[in-house]
This record gives sequence, C-alpha cells and structure tokens, in this order.
Amino acid sequence: MNTAEIESLYNQFVLPTVTRIPVCLVKGKGSRVWNLEGREYVDFFPGWGVSGLGHCHPAIGYAIKDQIRKIVHISNNYLNLKQAELAEVISEKSFPARLFFSNSGAEAAEAAIKFVRRFGSETGRFEIITMKNSFHGRTYAAMTATGQEKVHKGFQPVVPGFHYADFNSLDSVKRLVNEKTIAIMLEPIQGEGGIHVASREFMSGLRRLCDEKNMLLILDEVQTGMGRTGKLFAYQHYGIEPDLMMLAKSLGNGVPIGALVVNSKIKQEVLTAGTHASTYGGNPMVCAAALAVFKTIQKEQLLQNVERLGKVLEERLLEMRAKFPIIREVKGMGLMRGLELNVPGQVYVDRAREKGLLINCTQEKVLRIMPAITISKKWLDRGLHILEKVFEELG
Ligand SMILES: *Cc1c(COP(=O)(O)O)cnc(C)c1O
Repeated sequence: MNTAEIESLYNQFVLPTVTRIPVCLVKGKGSRVWNLEGREYVDFFPGWGVSGLGHCHPAIGYAIKDQIRKIVHISNNYLNLKQAELAEVISEKSFPARLFFSNSGAEAAEAAIKFVRRFGSETGRFEIITMKNSFHGRTYAAMTATGQEKVHKGFQPVVPGFHYADFNSLDSVKRLVNEKTIAIMLEPIQGEGGIHVASREFMSGLRRLCDEKNMLLILDEVQTGMGRTGKLFAYQHYGIEPDLMMLAKSLGNGVPIGALVVNSKIKQEVLTAGTHASTYGGNPMVCAAALAVFKTIQKEQLLQNVERLGKVLEERLLEMRAKFPIIREVKGMGLMRGLELNVPGQVYVDRAREKGLLINCTQEKVLRIMPAITISKKWLDRGLHILEKVFEELG
C-alpha cells in the first residue's frame, strides 16, 4: 500500500475527528522519523509530546519486551509488582503520595475530579475552578474542565460545577471562590493553550489560597512532566507542591499510561474499594515501560540535557525573532517552547514538513516546539536550521 491508498482507507473507514496530515510515519529512531516512502524528518513534536525519550529508545523497548514475556496484563485486584515499584518511584521523586493509574491524561483528570468531589462531599463542596485556555482532555468532565469554548461547542450540557479563571490572575481566581469551591486545577505551563508559563506569584498565591480555604490544588503535568522543563515535574521550579498531580503522555514514552498522584489530604477512607477503577490502568507492561523511563532520565542525565539544550533552543529562537518580525514572542521553558507569530502558523508547519521538520501549531498562531529530551545538539541544530529556512522563505 502507498500513502494515497492508506489515505483513501482513512477517508472511508476512520472518523475525521482530528486534523489529518497526509504522511504515513512507519519508523522512528531518537529524534528522527521516516515515512512510508523512506523520507526522513527531524521530529520536534514526537508523538504529541508522548515520545519524550525519542522514538524507540532501546531501554524502553527492552523493558517492554522483558515484561511481555512474563505477563502482559493482570486484573487490578491482584498485586502487581511493577505498579507497586512505579508508585513508589513517582512518590519518591515528587511528594509523599499514593497513586491511581489510568490509561491516558483525560482519565487522570477524571480521577482527579472524582476524587476531589468525593473529598468535598463531606462538606457539601463540589465546585472546581480551572483556567481559560486550559486543556485537560476530551472525556466529559475533562472536557468541561478545559476552559475553551470551542472544545465544548455542540456538547452541551457539560458537567456542572466548573468555573473558569484568567490564567496568571490570582484576583480572577479569588473572585470565583465561594463556600462550594473544593479545588483549583491548572497546568504549570498551558500547552494546547499556547505555551503560557504560570508566574511564580500566581502559583504561590494559589497554594496559599488553597491552604487558607482548605481547597485542593490539582496540577496537570501531563505535558510538562517527565523532565520536559528541566525539572522532573514543572511544579518543582516554583517552590510549592500540589495536592494532586496528573501525569500521562511521556510517562510511558508511547505505551498508554496515566497516573494521578494524591497526597495525604484525601484520606484513605474517602477512596475506599469500589469508588473508582480502570481495567487496564497501570498493567504490568505499561508500568515496566514507565519504570524504564524514570531510570533512563536518571542514567542519561536527561534533566541536564534539557537545561543545556533548552538554553540553546531559547537563544536560537530569540535570534530568529530578532531577524524575522513575523515572530512576536518566544515563550516557554526548557524543551517546551512556543513561537507566537503575528499571522496564522499552519503554513509554517506545512512548509517545515515539506523541508523535513515536524512541528505543531496551537491556538492558530503559536508554533509549538517540544523535541525529545534525549535530543542531541546535532539534531537540534539540524531542525532549527530548517525552521530558519522556513522563515527566510515565508517571511
Ligand atoms: C494531552 C493532555 C491531556 C489529555 O491527555 P490524553 O492522554 O489525550 O487524554 C490532559 N492535559 C494536558 C495538559 C495535556 O497536554
């Protein structure tokens, strides 16, 4: 089959719920992918932020292979060695916590919403404040938590009890707090929202507010977690800790796994047997992969790589901004960067792809660059060189 034939199967048999790019990717290695015809691309947006350690990292492959020879899946009613180990590792690397495992980011959000509501039900509180321009997933409650009208359009009535504040405005959050508010939920850096970084004052203000009012702070680190910003979790830049933290995307480097990390404020009695579950959530295979991800980040000193190459990336993007007035602003942290343009960005994404570089555009005008945290200077340079050529051509 060739690409055109595959596309025609898609047109016949696959619902067009996402934008479709007419390129069939069949192979990947590190920061490069190849299409069906053997064309090579530098990947600055591997798997929508999932393949954080790059494509086909051998350590992850070995871990999966080793596990699937023993056992792939067991019921969550039985003790799962890999899940126990992974829960311990995540808690040790974040804050004293217990975990719930899901298969995706949206399901981690659903779990967070259910758990805080169950906690709040003791005192009749259920309202949750989230941010405008946020993104928390596509299932009903996660979609409702997502503060973007276009995501809700046509799906009303959405889940009741959500209110949307302006990101980085503590006053806006405070205006929405009332005696029914149980939690505040946000991303430390809004990803789909256009790479908006939370300010220090905002984060510490939210932490204080939650402490004062006995509310819970939920951080969605689905996109910012696992070293993306130069710390293992982005909240670690802020000198605060959340009460709940959502993980997914690069947690498993490609296998479907999400996690919700919950501190001791939500007591054991609130989440008794039968309150929530997931059949697949955290099975031996995906937990083995996630354990290998944590090991690899440490072994290959990837946080240092993000810090070093994140600076290189920022400098190079700032140079481009100085050279090309179409670039309005360079945003982000570590290896999570946005280039806000004065014009729609899709033509830049398409031109980059024609020239062998994969990037993303969000909120119409923000080019999103999130290379694997394993990327080398060589492939970072190669991709940036192509990006620069694109700006030279399109202005
Ligand atoms: C991608 C994403 C989600 C949703 O994750 P899925 O695995 O697609 O359900 C939630 N929150 C953030 C911040 C994300 O980037």
